[in-house]
Amino acid sequence: MIKKTDTTELLGLNKFQVDEEEAHIVLDKAACAKCTKKPCLVVCPAGLYTEKNGEIVFDYAGCLECGTCRLVCEYGGITKWEYPRGTFGIAFRLG
Ligand code: SF4
Ligand code: SF4
Repeated sequence: MIKKTDTTELLGLNKFQVDEEEAHIVLDKAACAKCTKKPCLVVCPAGLYTEKNGEIVFDYAGCLECGTCRLVCEYGGITKWEYPRGTFGIAFRLG
């Protein structure tokens, strides 16, 4: 019988090597402040974009490197989107 695994469990299987010295995604908070719809809050599959007191809070640790936030970003809030440097980033695992 195949065991059903929910999204949180599946994401928990992945391994991350976080580059503490160089963020691979950088935001311009002033630009984000002008963004009315803030689609990043709903499209990131890892839920890395949140809002606190009307300001976008983002942490690149845990990024799945899917690129979705870059595609939907309005007002140029993402000033840098690159894949992490070699050896850093996500290693996808299925079990
Ligand atoms: S690349 Fe994907 S996982 Fe990473 S922050 Fe953007 S939407 Fe989230
Ligand atoms: S969509 Fe882009 S500009 Fe708008 S809040 Fe998110 S990161 Fe900032």
